[in-house]
Amino acid sequence: MDPQKKLAILADAAKYDASCASSGGSRRAAPGGLGSAEGMGICHSYTPDGRCVSLLKILLTNFCIYDCTYCVNRISSDTPRARFTPEEVVSLTLDFYRRNYIEGLFLSSGVLRSPDHTMEELVRVARLLREDHGFAGYIHLKVVPGASPELIEAAGLHADRVSANVELPTEADLARLAPEKKLPVIDETMGRIHLRRTEAKEERRTFAPAGQSTQIIVGATDTPDATILATSSRLYETHRLRRVYYSAFSPIPGADVRLPAKSPPLVREHRLYEADWLIRFYGFEAQELAGADAPQLDLGIDPKLAWALRNRAYFPVDLNIAPRGALLRVPGIGVRGAERIVEARRHRRLRIADLGKLRVAKNRALPFVVAADHNPTAAWIDRDDLRERIVRPQAAQLSLFDAAAPAAAPEPAPLAPALSGEL
Ligand code: SF4
Repeated sequence: MDPQKKLAILADAAKYDASCASSGGSRRAAPGGLGSAEGMGICHSYTPDGRCVSLLKILLTNFCIYDCTYCVNRISSDTPRARFTPEEVVSLTLDFYRRNYIEGLFLSSGVLRSPDHTMEELVRVARLLREDHGFAGYIHLKVVPGASPELIEAAGLHADRVSANVELPTEADLARLAPEKKLPVIDETMGRIHLRRTEAKEERRTFAPAGQSTQIIVGATDTPDATILATSSRLYETHRLRRVYYSAFSPIPGADVRLPAKSPPLVREHRLYEADWLIRFYGFEAQELAGADAPQLDLGIDPKLAWALRNRAYFPVDLNIAPRGALLRVPGIGVRGAERIVEARRHRRLRIADLGKLRVAKNRALPFVVAADHNPTAAWIDRDDLRERIVRPQAAQLSLFDAAAPAAAPEPAPLAPALSGEL
């Protein structure tokens, strides 16, 4: 098959992996113009130091012996198939790199024959790039759960980041939709990567220096956010993952009847990322954000504000004496905001006017904090419409044809919109 056609198939098949989510548009230069946004298979990702890099994101092959119902590449799918040889991927990567299209490679694959056979091919690409061509660009390799320790070792030796996808949050979900995948096997593979990274650090050598990540598909089953976040927390805790990526389930052609007909609202994925961030950097436990009493995250407000509204007895927090951990629980105070508050209050007692200068979202924080010149009464914190007064009402798109429609009931006046994106 023509390499261009293979690239089209295998780049398209790779788009379902959320680990680097953006991909090229369809804009092309007019005759005589310069550049193209088409960049088949090119996506953007972030390195550990925060740099945005463009990666060639492809599958080695979309042939697969597994039958995960949610996947377009499953064995029972009639999708067009293609397969690159490792040498072809190497030459494509080098070619794109020399033309300055990319700074690295994100390589995944369907399972060919066995996990070990697939891993051998993936590792061969990385080894050829590093050893034969001195390629120093970024490499992210997928690790097939169940691959042998030697192959995992070789993957971590050559790749900057490795990832084994857990895909579904519970063993029961996997048994139902991806019967060949087993949570204990995925855990064992992640555990092995973590162990090798720890040993490498002690031995002062590199092993997947950008860490390991995974992906969880959201909305393919009715498993609630509470369980998804509990699984993520466990993976962060046990295997020291760098990132869990959440990917909203997207319906595929000829899908199994056990799958939902529609994707979950994209905002659900967004709320899970916010909750994940709160767990990693703000000291929240997963069950505080979504637990038995409220198993789904509130789609209308961010999980920190939702927690604050459910736990009003925790507030108000005194900006001038509260420990950093308590400041981080206040809506509108982010990690940097909390640090600025702790630093600034060494020199003076903080007043409400200081919050803007400290880049705190003042209008979110106001009902929940005490300052030198501000002390919200219990009646203020306990008021029933506090949520509506904090959250800006959603702007509605007016239609030309709505002129005769009756006016909507007036919204309660919001305190004011949040000033920053800090949670
Ligand atoms: S292992 Fe499952 S998810 Fe991965 S390519 Fe094969 S069918 Fe798709």
